Amino acid sequence: LLKVEGLAKVYGGVHAVDDVDFVAQAGRISGIIGPNGAGKTTLFNVITGLDEPTRGRVLFKGRDITGFAAHRITKLGIARTFQNIRLFKELTVIENIMVGRHVRAGHPTLERMRTLNALHSLWSRDKVERSIYLSARRWLEFFALEQSAKELARNLPYGKQRALEIARALATDPTLLFLDEPAAGMNPAETRELLGTIKRVNDLGITIVLIEHDMKLVMNVCERITVLNYGKKLAEGTPEEIKNDPAVIEAYLGREE
Ligand code: ATP
Repeated sequence: LLKVEGLAKVYGGVHAVDDVDFVAQAGRISGIIGPNGAGKTTLFNVITGLDEPTRGRVLFKGRDITGFAAHRITKLGIARTFQNIRLFKELTVIENIMVGRHVRAGHPTLERMRTLNALHSLWSRDKVERSIYLSARRWLEFFALEQSAKELARNLPYGKQRALEIARALATDPTLLFLDEPAAGMNPAETRELLGTIKRVNDLGITIVLIEHDMKLVMNVCERITVLNYGKKLAEGTPEEIKNDPAVIEAYLGREE
């Protein structure tokens, strides 16, 4: 589904991502791990259009999307969440999800709006808003957030705020979902629930790539794992292969003199 070739991002003298090849197979859950500063988030950022790569290519369904703007990439079917929660905290839960849905709403173009009379354009807007609302409700149910629909996002407990971020990303109707440290700051019960959620999302046919420091979660949920270290790909394989790879163990724990 996604193929990354020789991707690099240089910030001044820092080679944050250094000649990385990576593939996300359709329908799979893949993991990206590595010590702090290894380049994981930068890799996500250059794939999802938040930052431009210095070199390399990003192919999505065979199409070169390198350097596309983030909103264009979202529209093509790639969604993401962030390491730190980035909800619209002063909007309600349902409104946060509706914002995600707007990308698919098919608003009349400005040109078309101008040719419609005011009353008709008002009516079609209402129709659009209603379809956005109904779609958002479906995701509320999927995440069992119906009771909190009218709560302000900032009043939700931490685990539910993270779930809401995933719901908002899913409202864009992606085929590929990037999750940047979804379990960060979660307690064990919240992490267990997240694990179930990730599997349920994948069961919908959505391909997932996640960055995570929680090894239990990574090893449980990912079919393939890519390890980055100092911006370079250090290893790649099944959880079992990665667990036993001496180079990976050394990158995390160091080597005895
Ligand atoms: P963590 O696990 O701590 O989140 P990471 O693997 O996601 O780390 P990145 O955040 O991608 O690592 O950072 C990789 C390197 O690039 C680091 O040395 C970081 O300081 C540097 N870096 C990241 N973003 C920028 C930026 N916008 N400007 C300059 N340097 C940056």
